[in-house]
This record gives sequence, C-alpha cells and structure tokens, in this order.
Amino acid sequence: MRTKLVIANWKMNLDISESVQLAKKLKLSFLKKLWQDQVVICPDFLSLSSVYQALNKTKIRLGAQNCFWQEVGAYTGEISPKNLKQVKADFVILGHSERRYYFKEKNEEIALKVDLALKTNIKPIVCVGEALTDHQKGRTLSTLKKQVKQSLQGIKLKSKDKIVLAYEPVWAIGNGKNLDPKEVVKILSFLKAEIAKVFSSTKAENNFSFIYGGSVSAENVKDFAKFKEIQGLLVGSSSLKLRNFSKICNDFLS
Ligand code: PEP
Repeated sequence: MRTKLVIANWKMNLDISESVQLAKKLKLSFLKKLWQDQVVICPDFLSLSSVYQALNKTKIRLGAQNCFWQEVGAYTGEISPKNLKQVKADFVILGHSERRYYFKEKNEEIALKVDLALKTNIKPIVCVGEALTDHQKGRTLSTLKKQVKQSLQGIKLKSKDKIVLAYEPVWAIGNGKNLDPKEVVKILSFLKAEIAKVFSSTKAENNFSFIYGGSVSAENVKDFAKFKEIQGLLVGSSSLKLRNFSKICNDFLS
C-alpha cells in the first residue's frame, strides 16, 4: 500500500453535532483536493452515520475507533465490524494505547479483532508503541517486536488485505513531544523488517503501510513530509481544529 494517508482520531472529544459541524467544514475545505481519498476521519461510534452524511459527495474515508472480535452474539455493549461496514467505515483503529491502558486490551485480543476486521473488508489500523519507562530503559525495540508479533498472531493475509501499522510512542501522545522524524524512519524500518519476518518481505511491502502518530501538528508536519518512509500520520489533538488539520493534510499529501 503506497498511497500516503492522514488519519484523524477524534477520540471522545466531540459530541454528535460538533462532529457533524467539523465534517461539514472539512468537506468545504477539501473541495477539489486530489488527495481527499487519502484522508480518514475516525469519529466516535454514534457519530459515524451523521459524519458519513455530512461528508457526502466527497472521497474522504471513514474509520471507527474500535470493534469487537465476534461478528454476532450475546456480547452486551460491544460493536460488530459488520455493523461498522454497514455505516460505511472502511477502517478501524485497533489496539490504541488508550484502549490498551484504560481497557486493559491485550495483544491476543487485538489479533482477533484484526482478523475479523479483515474478513469484514475493513482495513485495521493497528497501533503499537512503547510506554515512557520502556523508552527510558532502552526497551523500545523489544516492546515493539512483542506487540507486532502477538497483535498479528494467526493472521492469514490474502493478497487484497491491507493493514496500516501505526507506530505511536505512548510518551509522545497528546503532549507536544513528538519523536524526531529521523528516529521515526528508523523505527518504521525496524517494524517493516519484523513484519517481513512474521509474514514475508513481499507481504510487508504490498499488504502493509507504516505510519506514525504522536503530537503531529501544523507546525511540525513538514518535517515528517520530507521522508517517503513515513507513509502516513495518525493525528489526535491537531485533527480537532479545521485550520490545523487542513494544513497537516495539505503539507503531507500535496
Ligand atoms: C493519538 O492518540 O493517536 C494521537 C496521535 O494523538 P496526538 O496527535 O494528540 O498525539
């Protein structure tokens, strides 16, 4: 997957009407932009349908922020990928560090979700990243290696399947302390090599894209855009303001 992506993770920051308002503004701002279909908006579950309608006649894509690992059944409170597909989500963020931290999501559970998302024809955006203590103690690569291996355990990739692997150092999220893009390039190349070991180098090349998230902003986006190895950006805080997000998309995708 070569096309660059910019993915907006709105988390639980906006209510339904705020989400619709922002989607309408994005629609106007991105009118005639050739890279529209390289932008993915991930609102909360309840806003997905309304945001889809607000973005009508654009090519902007829709993603969810999580899903369950079973398609149907007695799982009170969970959301099936089948329903995400019905509300037109093409992507789903899985294993975000906030879900790993607050909801104690484990790699094994994430692997089941990745598997079902792929079977439902939804592209998983699988998040991996080390916590501050692992970073400080030099355990970044070993942490990532384990996360990648276990979060993709048992996945049988078909040639049409696409997975977005997002490297998001936990200590760089939401605080303005982004990782130096040169270091990002090194980590993404490490991740690609790990994926090649788990699957094959052909699959690492054809079925995966490797992206970064963590305090990407309108101010620093050009530094990331310089590196072709950074195939996409996952953007949290800076995706909530039209001006900032438009600049990030323009600078990274144009
Ligand atoms: C995120 O939480 O996925 C993220 C990248 O957040 P931020 O851009 O705010 O660091």
